[in-house]
Amino acid sequence: MIIEKMNYSKKMKAVLFDGSLRLVSDYPRPLLKPDWAVIKVIKAGICRTDIELIKGYMGFKGILGHEFIGVIEDTIDKSLIGRRVTGEINVSCGKCAMCKMGLKRHCYNRAVQGIHKIDGAMAEYCTLPIENLKIIPDEISDEKAVFIEPMSAAAQILTQITIEANDTCVILGDGKLGILCAWVMTTVCRDVTIVGHHENKLNAARWNGLKTITDISEIKTGVDIVIEATGSLSGLTDAVKICRPMGIIILKSTVASKIEIDLSIVTINEISIIGSRCGLFDDGIGIMRNWKDMPIERLITARYPISEAVTAFEKAVQRDSLKVLLEF
Ligand SMILES: [Zn+2]
Ligand SMILES: [Zn+2]
Repeated sequence: MIIEKMNYSKKMKAVLFDGSLRLVSDYPRPLLKPDWAVIKVIKAGICRTDIELIKGYMGFKGILGHEFIGVIEDTIDKSLIGRRVTGEINVSCGKCAMCKMGLKRHCYNRAVQGIHKIDGAMAEYCTLPIENLKIIPDEISDEKAVFIEPMSAAAQILTQITIEANDTCVILGDGKLGILCAWVMTTVCRDVTIVGHHENKLNAARWNGLKTITDISEIKTGVDIVIEATGSLSGLTDAVKICRPMGIIILKSTVASKIEIDLSIVTINEISIIGSRCGLFDDGIGIMRNWKDMPIERLITARYPISEAVTAFEKAVQRDSLKVLLEF
């Protein structure tokens, strides 16, 4: 009780969304709960999902942020204090049918850091269960480590479908996640193309034989695997158009708006549409360790101190922006 009172008196800077986005400096620091850790945040990334949350996606109110790196400030296991970590974003109940099946990321009662029910990491301190934390290998820099969450989301595709080296793959969307998905696919397929409308992003994307095009009509033959990462309403319609009969579409976009689409072609062509969200951090870290020359730093457009968080968000929504980092 005494400890709680002490902690509660401490305030911190935080990026709060409660209908409007702003920086506050008097947000209560998170309290240490059993089996959780309090983490001092070093860097946090602004994600497309954060921008959708500000438009009303998920109806979230609280501290934003689910891509971060920090050091453990306090936890029950004192040997962990000071370790450099990031954290899996889904906080599960451990009791429901999905948890019992080992599918904790799909826990029916889950909270998601900075997205659903619980505060996120765009603050001087954040908190997550110890089981969610991943110690970052020394060889991965702080800036690269901020990408472990989206890299794991990209790597999730490899666990969801069977991919042959000769499969053709097209990624729709040249945003951060689209580029990461494209890079991950180049590690398993020979023929990978990304379609985008931003010359600077396509330039950044060129790595490991990845082809870049700006006009989807250049794709003449049916594609084996289409990854939809445009974050826009027309993305799925385009994906259906270019996917071959019995091909696969992976849906990566999370958009606040609802979509209306004619699905008859999906039935006729027997296309598999697979939703794909988060991945295991071990998979994302594994890709970073195996592909050390993957030019992740190219995806960083700008860095801002937390005091300029609102300006950082204004930068992040600009058409030409890729990853914008907040530094603490
Ligand atoms: Zn994200
Ligand atoms: Zn559960």
